Amino acid sequence: MSRNAESTAFRSALEVVRGVEPRVADAIAAELADQRESLKLIASENYASPATLLAMGNWFSDKYAEGTVGRRFYAGCQNVDTVEALAAEHARELFGASHAYVQPHSGIDANLVAFWAVLADRVESPALRKAQARQVNDLTEADWFALRRELGNQRMLGMSLDAGGHLTHGFRPNISGKMFDQRSYGTDPATGLIDYDRVAEAAREFKPLILVAGYSAYPRKVNFRIMREIADSVGATFMVDMAHFAGLVAGKVFTGDFDPVPHAHIVTTTTHKSLRGPRGGMVLCGPELADQVDRGCPMVLGGPLPHVMAAKAVALAEARRPDFADYAQRIVDNAQALADGLLRRGATLVTGGTDNHLVLIDVSGYGLTGRQAEQALLDSGIVTNRNSVPQDPNGAWYTSGIRIGTPALTTRGLGATEMDATAELIHTVLSQTTPGTGPDGAPSKAKYVLDPAVAESVGKQAADLLTPFPLYPAVDLG
Ligand code: PLP
Repeated sequence: MSRNAESTAFRSALEVVRGVEPRVADAIAAELADQRESLKLIASENYASPATLLAMGNWFSDKYAEGTVGRRFYAGCQNVDTVEALAAEHARELFGASHAYVQPHSGIDANLVAFWAVLADRVESPALRKAQARQVNDLTEADWFALRRELGNQRMLGMSLDAGGHLTHGFRPNISGKMFDQRSYGTDPATGLIDYDRVAEAAREFKPLILVAGYSAYPRKVNFRIMREIADSVGATFMVDMAHFAGLVAGKVFTGDFDPVPHAHIVTTTTHKSLRGPRGGMVLCGPELADQVDRGCPMVLGGPLPHVMAAKAVALAEARRPDFADYAQRIVDNAQALADGLLRRGATLVTGGTDNHLVLIDVSGYGLTGRQAEQALLDSGIVTNRNSVPQDPNGAWYTSGIRIGTPALTTRGLGATEMDATAELIHTVLSQTTPGTGPDGAPSKAKYVLDPAVAESVGKQAADLLTPFPLYPAVDLG
């Protein structure tokens, strides 16, 4: 697409929106301005391409298309079939999977679809079989009761939240924590790394139906071959949630033992993090689980979002291009440059570094909580998020960590030199921030003191760092 076409497309779209509700148009324009100006280090965010963004804003949004390609509960879905089939084909080719289900609206939804597929496949329930064979009228109240009891008490073993696991892997605030009897495996307290022998031991003791690997805040590779062996040794289904690192799998940075697709029975992902697509989710699996996965809608999901599936098809086509592999490698190179820069300046990093797209700083070394550090960095134009560290004494709200990630800045084109400069800015803010006190003079986990002149100077340097790397350079909203 020519740069001119991109600019015209976005300008025209805003003009049309402005004609109805100018405040929405203003907010959209303000969001672009904010994203352009901030040093975005949120590990789960990125910047989708103009083609991906534009594929979402159209009349596909008006379609209902429950069912799957060629088997819809609504008439007139031929064009939805085209985009859904294209997105699935790109996903299969990109990841080398035999089946791809591209309807999940988000990562949570993709996980729910996967959990349901595994339960439906693995749990011996005559009532469930009748229900799935559409003999619902033959089911008695007692059958339904048995079905709920049988499906509702299954076991899941996943990575603990404070070691970097995700809420959807069986933790209480999420429905997965209510559906499953959950246990978690942590990391070695000395190294911060997954101890596979301990995982195997936990699996032997707990005998989970599902063993989950995948994380939101673990800065290292996971050996999926070993995890599959552990799952096999106890008869568990092995599921990997690659939401965070799907881009690194797509870009062939994670291969062999570190590519989940050949090793897992089922893989879920988001499409909007390192994969750089629209907000959404996806499930990949082999033929054994394909039929159950395809029941995701209406079992777990509402009608699919055809406009987002169109955007998934575009983003996945982009990820199949050779330059995506280069992008994925630069994400990791940048994360390592950032980690090195922080370590050289004296920061403490969980696991001592990174081999993926994220770095976890233990800010207790600066005498701060994660919440204080997050806000002080934000005051200085650096957008991050606080995160627990293993065995975090400050809990999940205040935390002791700051998670930073490089997918977004790498999309803008920043490289190793800018990562070192970023490390310097982060270190400056954290080393010059001190904990504050509450109204009663007691130490506070939220309040902090940072000289506004330091915040202003760092903010200015952060903005200068971004100047040579404009975001959506072709888009001029006037
Ligand atoms: N799984 C993992 C590992 C994640 O990190 C996330 C989101 O951060 C999700 C699932 C949920 O994704 P979503 O916010 O799209 O529902």
